[in-house]
Amino acid sequence: MKFQTARPVAGITVYQPGKPIEEVERELGISGSIKLASNENPLGPSPKALEAVRKALGDLNRYPDGGGYYLKRALARHHGLAPENFVLGNGTNEVLELLAHAFLDPGDPVVFSEGAFIVYLIVAQLSSCEMRTTPMRDFTHDLDAMAAKMDERTKAVFIANPNNPTGTAVGEKALRGLLERVPERTLVVVDEAYCHFAHREDYPDAVKMLREYPNLVAMRTFSKVYGLAGLRVGYGVAHPEVISALERVREPFNVNSLALVAAEAALEDHAHVERGVRANAEGREFFVRELATLGLPFVPTQGNFIMAEVGDAKGVYEALLRDGVIVRPVAGYGFPRHLRISIGTPEENRRVVESLAEIMAK
Ligand code: PMP
Repeated sequence: MKFQTARPVAGITVYQPGKPIEEVERELGISGSIKLASNENPLGPSPKALEAVRKALGDLNRYPDGGGYYLKRALARHHGLAPENFVLGNGTNEVLELLAHAFLDPGDPVVFSEGAFIVYLIVAQLSSCEMRTTPMRDFTHDLDAMAAKMDERTKAVFIANPNNPTGTAVGEKALRGLLERVPERTLVVVDEAYCHFAHREDYPDAVKMLREYPNLVAMRTFSKVYGLAGLRVGYGVAHPEVISALERVREPFNVNSLALVAAEAALEDHAHVERGVRANAEGREFFVRELATLGLPFVPTQGNFIMAEVGDAKGVYEALLRDGVIVRPVAGYGFPRHLRISIGTPEENRRVVESLAEIMAK
C-alpha cells in the first residue's frame, strides 16, 4: 500500500464485535434470528433513560455539555465521591484509550492475563507497550502471577472483574493482595463493566476501595445492566490527579448529549437494575442446569454471559448461525473449544439451548 501507517498500526489486533442480526440475516437469507453475542441487557434500556432521551431530542442542534457537569455530579452523589474523581467516555472502551494516551509510552511494561478482555491488548499495542501477560488459572486472573511480573517500570495492570469472556471474578482478598504488592506508581485498572451481576460474597467493589489506594482506576459502563450500549457511555473513577491527565487527552465532546441525560436517569433507575440482575440470575441458573443436562462443561459465571465448552467451537458457532442464533466464538482469547453465550430473555435462552442440543446430537 502506498500509505504508510504510524508504527503500531499494522500490529494492532482487530476487535471482532458480535455479529449484528441484520448482517447474519442478510448473509444467510434467514429471518427471526436472536443475538446473544454482546452481553447486552435483554430487557432493553432503562425506561427512565428513554424518557430523558425523548425530552432532550429537541436540543440536538446544540453541542453536548463538554464537561458532563450533571452526570459527573450524579455519579459523585451515587458513589459518595467528588466530581473530580470521574472521567466520562464514549463507552469504557474510550476510557481505556484515554488511559493509554495519558499514561503509556512505547516500551512501558503493562500486565494483564492471557484470557482478559481484548481491548487491554489493543490499547497496549496502540502505545507500543511491552506486554507482560500471564496464563489464567481455572479461567481466572492469577493475581499472584501478575504481581510477580511487575516492577518499578510497570505502568499499568488491567483486571476485568468479572472478566469477559470467562465470566470469572477475583475476590477481595486476592485484589487487596495485589494492591499491596504493586509499586505505588503502577496504575491498577479494575474494569467493573459486569459488577452488577457478580454474586460471589467476597466480590470487591473497586470504587469503594479508591480512598485506600490512590493508584486504583475503577471503570464502569452504562452498556450492560443499564441497557444503554447503543448510546456509548462509560466512566473511569480515580484519584483527581489521574483524572486530570485523562481529561487533557479527551476530545472536547466525546460523550453525546443523549448519552449524558440517559446515563444520569439510568443511574437512579434502581428498579430497572434490579429487574436486570434478577432476570440474569434466573437465566444463569437455567444455563447451568441445561448445559449440565447436555453434558457440556462450562465456566461458572459472575457475569451476564456464560462460556461453554462445545468442542468444535467454529463448527458449532456456524451451525448455530444457520439456525438464527448468534453467539460469540472466543478462539481469539485462547479458547478454541468454547463459545460465549450472553444470557438473554427466557425465550432466547431456551432457543439457544434447544438449538445447541440438536447440533450436539448430530
Ligand atoms: N470492559 C469489559 C470487560 C467488557 O466486556 C466491555 C464490553 N464488551 C467493555 C469494557 C466495554 O464496554 P463499553 O465500551 O460498552 O462501555
